Amino acid sequence: MQKAVLLRCPICDSVRTLEGERNRYAKNDLYKTAKNHLASHNLDETKSAIRKCEIVSDAVEIVIYSEDHDPLPNKEWKQRNATWLPENVLDRVDTSNPSPESSADTTPIQLHNED
Ligand SMILES: [Zn+2]
Repeated sequence: MQKAVLLRCPICDSVRTLEGERNRYAKNDLYKTAKNHLASHNLDETKSAIRKCEIVSDAVEIVIYSEDHDPLPNKEWKQRNATWLPENVLDRVDTSNPSPESSADTTPIQLHNED
């Protein structure tokens, strides 16, 4: 079992993981990681600061049970769909938009079998 801290960029939707438990990292470490990435977006200082806080406050600790997966984006930011992440992990990141599995729009189609 492996733990990692997952950061996600709200601008380009790329993700980055830091190996280990979240409490292993000082907030400043997370800020630094976020800031390094945000530099590539050429934001002005205020926007960059806002995004930086956003990324860090959305950071989640993920637990990886399976060892049978591609390497996590531990070294660089990667596009979310170009990298392996545990299933549903990003659903949990989107805490602002909780969508419980309630869409009961799956009425089975009635097939009329003519015997
Ligand atoms: Zn980005």
